[in-house]
Amino acid sequence: MERTKPPTFHIVVLPGDGIGVEVMEACTQILEVVQEVNGGFRLLLKTLEAGANYFQTTGEDISEKSFEEARAADAILLGAMGLPNIRYPDGTEIAPHLRMRTEFGLFAGVRPVKSYPNLPATLADSRAKEIDIVILRESTEGLFAHRNSGVVEDDRIARDVLEITRPNCERLFDFAFDLAVRRKSEGGPGIVTCVDKANVFRSMAFFRQVFDERAQRYPEISAEYRYVDAMALDLVRQPWKYDVLVMENMFGDILSDLGAGIVGGLGLAPCGEIGTQHGLFQPAHGSAPDIAGTGVANPTAMLISAAMMLEWLGQQHQVSACKRAGQRIRNAVFSGYKEEEIKPFEFGGSSRTNDIANTVQNRIQAQ
Ligand code: NAD
Repeated sequence: MERTKPPTFHIVVLPGDGIGVEVMEACTQILEVVQEVNGGFRLLLKTLEAGANYFQTTGEDISEKSFEEARAADAILLGAMGLPNIRYPDGTEIAPHLRMRTEFGLFAGVRPVKSYPNLPATLADSRAKEIDIVILRESTEGLFAHRNSGVVEDDRIARDVLEITRPNCERLFDFAFDLAVRRKSEGGPGIVTCVDKANVFRSMAFFRQVFDERAQRYPEISAEYRYVDAMALDLVRQPWKYDVLVMENMFGDILSDLGAGIVGGLGLAPCGEIGTQHGLFQPAHGSAPDIAGTGVANPTAMLISAAMMLEWLGQQHQVSACKRAGQRIRNAVFSGYKEEEIKPFEFGGSSRTNDIANTVQNRIQAQ
């Protein structure tokens, strides 16, 4: 009998700099194990060099060939890029992944904020244990749309432009509502909150207007609003009341770090940058030069980003085995915290990067 081959996905792996390399090592270990245990798909991981160290030796942040390989891949996994003392000639930091956002149309920055058990509480209220929200950061326009063309006139006035476009808003809000629908089918409350400053800015009133239009298509989801300043307050006061929060690029940049803060820190903050054709998955943290090389980086955010990648591949290509594999990683990580086998250095524990990877591996193999 002829055997059909499992679907195979080409993944470009960009470890980058500092702890990016260390958490990526943990991640590839887990991806090899999970596909073995789960079956039903294959990942072909191809590691490519890019980032600040690569720039220092070659004069380019990523080669054109590697950039095109990333474009052609089914998904991109990134550790972290950039080192404070290595910069482009204009003084800004090395960040080729920002070009990928615009070139690959990665408009939806998905930043889950979730509480893990047995960690020191940032928020005193016991309901903080239930935090499970998603910050959806528009990632290609807003205040970043013209980030390379800000001007300073006569050393007197500085000007940047914020741009919101209808087509991008439409796909962003559809993404937000679809996400809320999926989460509702898994027990979520089914709420999308539009975070804006529509009381002051014309661009933001337009953002909200398009939000209202798209909300009409999703009668089963509750469409709500918060001004960004009130949202910052509520993220600290009662974040458990929310579900999916959708917002402009700069607002998302700021509030997603606040989101990471209310559940403990950047080592727990995963991220998926998603377009219609491409997906790039990376932890929200940077290269952490202060701990790089010491082996104590927490790989949780990297591992959950990889789980998000598998779930996205499963959804894009209708491969349920990928979705199950993503869930296996999530369960293994979550249960590792629950059973107090994972106690990251970041939170005063003694689990090193490879201890956490080995715990997650054992748990996946035992599932
Ligand atoms: P950072 O996220 O690297 O580190 C901030 C703090 O959080 C540090 O104290 C660090 O030790 C800690 N931390 C971060 N991730 C951790 C983890 N997984 N486990 C334990 N502790 C962790 O931010 P930074 O110091 O502002 O930036 C360092 C470099 O990284 C800069 O060059 C910056 O440009 C770059 N950066 C890159 C990305 C990216 O690749 N997407 C994102 C942010 C910053």
